Amino acid sequence: KPTRSDIESAIRNIPDFPKPGIQFKDITPVLADPRLFAGSIDLLIGNFKPGMVDAIVGIDARGFIFAAAAALKLEAGFVPVRKKGKLPYQTHEQSYDLEYGANAIAIHIDAVKPGSRVLLIDDLLATGGTAAAAASLLQKVGAEILEISFLIELKFLAGRDKLQNYPVRSIISY
Ligand code: IMP
Repeated sequence: KPTRSDIESAIRNIPDFPKPGIQFKDITPVLADPRLFAGSIDLLIGNFKPGMVDAIVGIDARGFIFAAAAALKLEAGFVPVRKKGKLPYQTHEQSYDLEYGANAIAIHIDAVKPGSRVLLIDDLLATGGTAAAAASLLQKVGAEILEISFLIELKFLAGRDKLQNYPVRSIISY
């Protein structure tokens, strides 16, 4: 089984993308390697087993990749949190500040049954604005967030401080 450091070695650093001064962590080499992709899903799932969660919530767009794979492994549903304006049915919306800009995300009002046990998954925790906004959307639909997990955490941005109400786990941190 791949280790955290095997996965870390495959993450590519792209300077000045998408804006000058941003060091973008490119996870596409992890996805392209079946061993590393499967290993990253196992690590994201942690100790959760089928039957323990009702849905895995993924954040647009790289979060979808990990959350959908985790949902299949945990025999749970998949729920997308999308950029504002993309979901076709009635939505709750939440705006937030991003490391590079501002944005709003949305969830279908009936995305989960109230009381559903969910895991929230994204590829990367930076300032925490996105995940905190997604968590507040999940509160609005009545979900119980069991854990929020990330493949990568940029510790120096202290995104965890915005997620203090939830258990937060990351696989690789910088
Ligand atoms: P935050 O809201 O500042 O925590 O930013 C996290 C969101 O921005 C996540 O949805 C990430 O996919 C995306 N993001 C920010 N920086 C990076 C990066 O370096 N690599 C990949 N995604 C990033």
